[in-house]
Amino acid sequence: MQDTPSAPLSKPATEFRNFAAEARDTVREFYRLNHQHQTLDFVLGKKREYLGLDRRRMTVWKALEYLDTLVDDSDPDVDFTQIDHALQTAEAVRRAGQPRWLVATGLIHDLGKILCLFGEPQWAVVGDTFPVGCRFSEACVYPEFFAANPDSTHPVYATPLGIYAPGCGLDAVHMSWGHDEYIYHVVKDQLPLEALYALRYHSFYPWHKEGAYGDLLNEQDRAMLPWVKAFNRYDLYSKGDRRPDLAALRPYYEELVAEFFPEPLSF
Ligand code: FE
Ligand code: FE
Repeated sequence: MQDTPSAPLSKPATEFRNFAAEARDTVREFYRLNHQHQTLDFVLGKKREYLGLDRRRMTVWKALEYLDTLVDDSDPDVDFTQIDHALQTAEAVRRAGQPRWLVATGLIHDLGKILCLFGEPQWAVVGDTFPVGCRFSEACVYPEFFAANPDSTHPVYATPLGIYAPGCGLDAVHMSWGHDEYIYHVVKDQLPLEALYALRYHSFYPWHKEGAYGDLLNEQDRAMLPWVKAFNRYDLYSKGDRRPDLAALRPYYEELVAEFFPEPLSF
């Protein structure tokens, strides 16, 4: 597995996700709301609300078009459309010589953002994710905003492991609600485990970048981490690559979608 981007970056790697130098107040405000409201109860409620996947059925193309009007408030690396980002990520995976299922994963990895179009506020859809039901980590961005989250003083949820057993594995852990968890459920019977990890944890920076939450991990999580990290590079560092030429790329992606997602997806 090759895990570095093969093309030059559009700006130095240290300038991606540079929250400190951030001029967009919306990013800070985004995390203030996100950290305040993402409680275990909130997450369990959203899972009940959405994971029946009975809202609508859409092909990958329809879902991409539906998404295309959205601008992600949590992202310091703007300003491309969602369809550009889907193709840039997929193309970065393809250029690196990764398997076709990982290219397909790149194409659909942010489709869960259609939660915004179902009326969810951005703080419940995008941004970095983190476990709920146990103590919030200082490795999360803007950790100071967790003080306003009622779980941060809960007698159980505020303890280091909270409701979880040591080494329980991430599959047993409730993550803050957002597009990662949602798209994982939408496609979980259609892609290999490596791809499912990339989808489900691509915004879990406190784990894949900072190495936090080690006490919750099991063997499978540790084995899958390199895929999550590799995928993250294609996702993050392809931002700002040349605008993809959809017309030229379309035949390749028509075939890819037909191979992995022949039926409309259930959202
Ligand atoms: Fe994402
Ligand atoms: Fe993305």
